[in-house]
Amino acid sequence: MIINDEQKKRLVDNPVLKDITCPVCKNTELVLTDKIFELREFSGGNLRLRGKSSVIPVISILCEKCGHIILLNAVKLGLVTSDIERDQEEHTD
Ligand SMILES: [Zn+2]
Repeated sequence: MIINDEQKKRLVDNPVLKDITCPVCKNTELVLTDKIFELREFSGGNLRLRGKSSVIPVISILCEKCGHIILLNAVKLGLVTSDIERDQEEHTD
């Protein structure tokens, strides 16, 4: 999912992203990618499309010096809402 203009504005205004440094090499030249990615719960190597499964939407910030990638939860940053709770309710028996 591409980060739209409204989401970009929220990121620019977010104090968490100001003065951020790489935790590995302490570099301050970091690049925010323009997409929201998702972390999926490991299911034994199979892609699980139905049933209970955790998905965490994240943004990634790449350190240009060492390649370390910082992941931040896109729900906590206010970029997207979480459908995880609704999905779990729909699948609860
Ligand atoms: Zn680094």
